[in-house]
Amino acid sequence: MKVLNPADGSLVRELEQDGAQAVAAKVTRARAAQPAWAARPLADRLAAIRRFKEQVARRKDDLAATLTRETGKPIRQSGNELEAVAGRIDFFLDKAPGALAAETVLDAPKLREQITHEPLGVVANISAWNYPYFVGSNVFVPALLAGNAVLYKPSEFASLSGLAIGEMMQAAGVPPDVFAVLPGSGSTGALVVDQPVDGIFFTGSYATGARIAAACAPRMVKLQLELGGKDPVYVCEDADVQNAAESLADGAMYNAGQSCCAVERIYVHQSIHDAFVAAFVDIVKGYSCGDPMDAATYLGPLARAPQLEVLERQVADAVAKGAKLLAGGKRIARPGNWFEATVLSNADHRMELMREESFGPVIGMQKVSGDEQALALMNDTVYGLTAGVYTPDEARARRILAQVRSGSVYWNCCDRVSPRLPWSGIGHSGVGLTLSTYGIQAMTRPKAWHLRCS
Ligand code: NDP
Repeated sequence: MKVLNPADGSLVRELEQDGAQAVAAKVTRARAAQPAWAARPLADRLAAIRRFKEQVARRKDDLAATLTRETGKPIRQSGNELEAVAGRIDFFLDKAPGALAAETVLDAPKLREQITHEPLGVVANISAWNYPYFVGSNVFVPALLAGNAVLYKPSEFASLSGLAIGEMMQAAGVPPDVFAVLPGSGSTGALVVDQPVDGIFFTGSYATGARIAAACAPRMVKLQLELGGKDPVYVCEDADVQNAAESLADGAMYNAGQSCCAVERIYVHQSIHDAFVAAFVDIVKGYSCGDPMDAATYLGPLARAPQLEVLERQVADAVAKGAKLLAGGKRIARPGNWFEATVLSNADHRMELMREESFGPVIGMQKVSGDEQALALMNDTVYGLTAGVYTPDEARARRILAQVRSGSVYWNCCDRVSPRLPWSGIGHSGVGLTLSTYGIQAMTRPKAWHLRCS
């Protein structure tokens, strides 16, 4: 398997990918190792994860450089991810003891009822490349704390970061059979799904998620899918135009738009539409695009070459149906996977641009007459990951957001994930959740104890 640098197409490293035998052997060893891991006191598992966090902090600069080399994420944004992951891990370290503790729900004279949180057993974590430390640790950290063994299949496009995570887990004292990395492409992922595991936690596209759901349906294993989105935002006529434009341009273009919760479509009230669009385009045109290893770069290449065609198709379809191209719109002619920061106005829902995930530095905007039309358009989607409203009027924002079908809602902010809040999607955005104390308990099987004194 070749790891290529998306900034110039050069070879970073060649790797051996796990085939059927390697995958099956890792599953068998994980199965054997898991009971002893679960039997250790929680304090031991907490200490191991604390050491893992220290490893990440110690190796931050070299990990950021690796992440940038293999995904094209600008180095400053790679550094941000590596710094911020410490906060997520701290949340899990702080909340796991409470979330995993046995609960007595009835304590009557002759009858006690309790709930314990048992580990699922051996779980597969098939992860995405766009934020490998964030989306990976959302699953593997609570899974390990809860006493599971984890088979971690990093994305083919973040294999080196995945292998580094494995090294750090080992250095932190997590046995190699309890946290095993399975490098490989989608075919390795498919092999993992076919194994007799007790849980499958997948982050990636709807198309792959649907295939995984179909493959494991007859086995009735626990399945969580964190999938894509077509995240809408509505800018009301009373919003601060400049602030909203700055916030939303960043929400649409950060990491070249390759975030599951990136802003993907913007509805702007007709009375401020032109001013908002002008401010937005100005900001986007000011973004520095170039070598992702340069700390001044904001926009790098796309991680995956095939996405360039998706973006080209969306832009062509939108323009053919009447959208106005205000910035960008095409590939940048240089080796690697480059696409210009692209802004289209006059978009509507006949266009793929407003219906299908772009997952790139491309944004469509549509003028709306008011809250009712904005709400109808926001909900006109098969996805439901996040949605936002920009207005100083909290009551108005709450009224609109209460009616939006999505797992997370934002008032005057966007493209934001908090470890304290559950992360979940509706419809094609997935099933199940990570993060928050619910996300810790999602790694367990609640066991019901009926205890009657004779
Ligand atoms: P993919 O669905 O292409 O891949 C995700 C993972 O699945 C990768 O590890 C991939 O391996 C693996 N895979 C591919 N085919 C199979 C298969 N048949 N069986 C099992 N595993 C398989 O998604 P991307 O990596 O391109 O990630 C981008 C998508 O992820 C976007 O839609 C984005 O919105 C979503 N996402 C959602 C998040 C959320 O929290 N909701 C967070 C981050 C991203 P390989 O890469 O080697 O092919």
